[in-house]
Amino acid sequence: MRDLSDDKSLLSLNTATVREQWNLREMVEGCLRHGIGGISPWRDKVQECGVDEAARLIADSGLAVSGLCRGGMFPAADAAGRRAALDDNRRAVDEAVALGAECLVLVVGGLPDGSRDIAGARQQVEDGIGALLEYSRPAGVPLAIEPLHPMYAADRACINTMAQANDVCDVLGDDGLGIALDVYHVWWDPDLAAEITRAGKERILAFHVCDWLVPTNDLLLDRGMPGDGVIDIRGIRGLVEGVGYDGHCEVEILSTRWWAEDPNLIMQTLIERHQSVV
Ligand code: ZN
Repeated sequence: MRDLSDDKSLLSLNTATVREQWNLREMVEGCLRHGIGGISPWRDKVQECGVDEAARLIADSGLAVSGLCRGGMFPAADAAGRRAALDDNRRAVDEAVALGAECLVLVVGGLPDGSRDIAGARQQVEDGIGALLEYSRPAGVPLAIEPLHPMYAADRACINTMAQANDVCDVLGDDGLGIALDVYHVWWDPDLAAEITRAGKERILAFHVCDWLVPTNDLLLDRGMPGDGVIDIRGIRGLVEGVGYDGHCEVEILSTRWWAEDPNLIMQTLIERHQSVV
């Protein structure tokens, strides 16, 4: 397992963490000022800046781009909706190419409006990823399926476990397809260790960290700073590094509490926690 006790280069800032305080330029400058090695932008921040300018900014910074967040949201109530989703995903692939992102993270989507057919939604996800692969493979952008905690199955992602993500990879093939493992979403899974082993180095394309707070007061916007909750983050890092993962540890904290804080304090805290508990 890698020793991170003195490391900042393997830390990557997911821009959701400071999205309310900084624009993309301020985030890039903040990473450089604090010595953080990577960034993972959300598309809203890229588009706010303009894709070309964002690409130039990040290329000039020398920061690694551990991922682009996010594509996905494949299921829709009708064919036109599914086509629109696929079109938007192709644009996300183009943006990932422009930014030199190591992967495009997929939050795959939940139930279409009015639907109770979760099996059908999962089939739409598989079909959507299959269609997107025809575009992303030649573009050289790996797609990283992010399983989300089951509390998001209806509205964000109906792929909820590493096993499901592995199953989709088995069906569609490993070429240009893998998994973004976010400890927040999968820490509770009794099969986690086995499914990480099953995924192996080839499939684990990204490693996201934050913490599960007890109590959690909001389903989406109450994620914790690593070390403030109940997830054995270092234990899970040990599992992914045990199968050969050698990429960044991307800190992604959606939290109204942290969004009210000084972003420089957040950056310092991220570094301390990266070194002490991640
Ligand atoms: Zn994540």
